Amino acid sequence: MLTLFTHLGLTGKLTTHDDGDCLTVLPLSRQALVTAEQVHGNRLVWVGASDAGKRMPAVDGLLTSARGVGLGMRVADCVPIYIWHETVAIYGLVHAGWKGIAAGIETSLTLELAQHYPLSSYHFYLGPAIGACCFTLGAEAYRQLVGAEQANASQTVDLRLLLNNQLVSLGVPAVNIQCDERCTCCDKQFYSYRRDHTPFRMLATCVMS
Ligand SMILES: [Zn+2]
Repeated sequence: MLTLFTHLGLTGKLTTHDDGDCLTVLPLSRQALVTAEQVHGNRLVWVGASDAGKRMPAVDGLLTSARGVGLGMRVADCVPIYIWHETVAIYGLVHAGWKGIAAGIETSLTLELAQHYPLSSYHFYLGPAIGACCFTLGAEAYRQLVGAEQANASQTVDLRLLLNNQLVSLGVPAVNIQCDERCTCCDKQFYSYRRDHTPFRMLATCVMS
């Protein structure tokens, strides 16, 4: 039986490798974790056991078909997307902020996944992220992301709803997508870049046993 262990925990400053206690709850070690440079782009990469401990350059998404490979992604308001196949050992983790979504990371993700199995056989979990309650963008950023004019400067954006709708329009069945409701900006248990301009991040992790 395949089990995907997932976690999102507080970690150290973005610039450090201090992952605090957030790895103690998953069956993996800091040395084994594969992370990504995270450049707010649309590229993903397949990784394997030989990438353990590496930070993969110039990508915002990690996919693997190797059980036991721990994946890690740093977030503080951006959406961590956990992906897993329902019967085969394929899983992944994507960092999706507004720039990555505007750049089409969800399109890259679904194109990549669909090369291997039908999109209906994958599941998606959109983790804690800044909610529509707290997220506004400037006029130009709003246009880039939504593809429409902003009604006014206080018009908010729901990143997870946007991602959910994009994934569905790309062919993912709506029932295969789950959205965490928590807002990282409202909920003080999370770090939030928008709230505090914090240099700290949460570390989203997953590993399939
Ligand atoms: Zn909020």
